[in-house]
Amino acid sequence: MKIIRYLNQSGQIEFGTLDVTGKAFKLRGDIFGIPEVTSEPATVSKLLAPLQPTGILGIGLNYRKHAEESGAKVPEFPVLFAKGLNTLQNPGDAIEIPTFLKSDEVDYECELAVVIGKRCKNVNRKDALKYVLGYTCANDVSARDWQIKRGGGQWSRGKFFDTFAPLGPCLVTTDEIPNPNSLSIKTVLNGTTVQDWNTDDMIFDVPTLIEFLSGSTTLLPGTVILTGTPHGVGMGQKPPRWLKAGDSVTIEIEKIGTLTNPVTLES
Ligand code: MG
Repeated sequence: MKIIRYLNQSGQIEFGTLDVTGKAFKLRGDIFGIPEVTSEPATVSKLLAPLQPTGILGIGLNYRKHAEESGAKVPEFPVLFAKGLNTLQNPGDAIEIPTFLKSDEVDYECELAVVIGKRCKNVNRKDALKYVLGYTCANDVSARDWQIKRGGGQWSRGKFFDTFAPLGPCLVTTDEIPNPNSLSIKTVLNGTTVQDWNTDDMIFDVPTLIEFLSGSTTLLPGTVILTGTPHGVGMGQKPPRWLKAGDSVTIEIEKIGTLTNPVTLES
């Protein structure tokens, strides 16, 4: 099932599901339970990120060539960092380049986002996908100056600015994606493809990440795991290609769809 979250014509938040032709119908009930598909057409006045996360966990350096382009060693354990709930952004809404806490090095990162569907802890990788509700596209926007030079030795400052976690356009449930580690994934910047790879190249695959992250740690329904980005980020280009106002960034993942956001300066 492809689940969307949107504002209806009265400005209320509703959930819907897309059929094979892309037509949207209202969903009734909890998306973490057993939602009922209705025959009532969804009146989408604005598409929202497909869920309001309960937490956003980021994994760094999870593709070999990206670790290389970052000048980092291939990690022995998954590299965890936090993104705040403030970072959530909707499809079509702007990524804002920080101006108050100024950044000159804002970068894109296409990522497969895993949405946890059931509360879990100490999960074995063999059972891990049972706890997943589905998948969506994410852009793990990163201010490299605040991540690396002014981050105090860890990454969260540079990953934590408002609008730095666009998600969407829909949440695709696990019945449509039985294997999350076989999906093409790309970033298109102003019409040019800049990242183009496959999730089969993750160093730690999705089940391994869930096993690791749930160790001695409860994962709540609605936890979003950003699973890392492949090579081709702006930081890795010569010279580096930082995002600027007026850019348009699209993240595209096979079987999920496209997530496009314009770029502006923080207002
Ligand atoms: Mg990332």
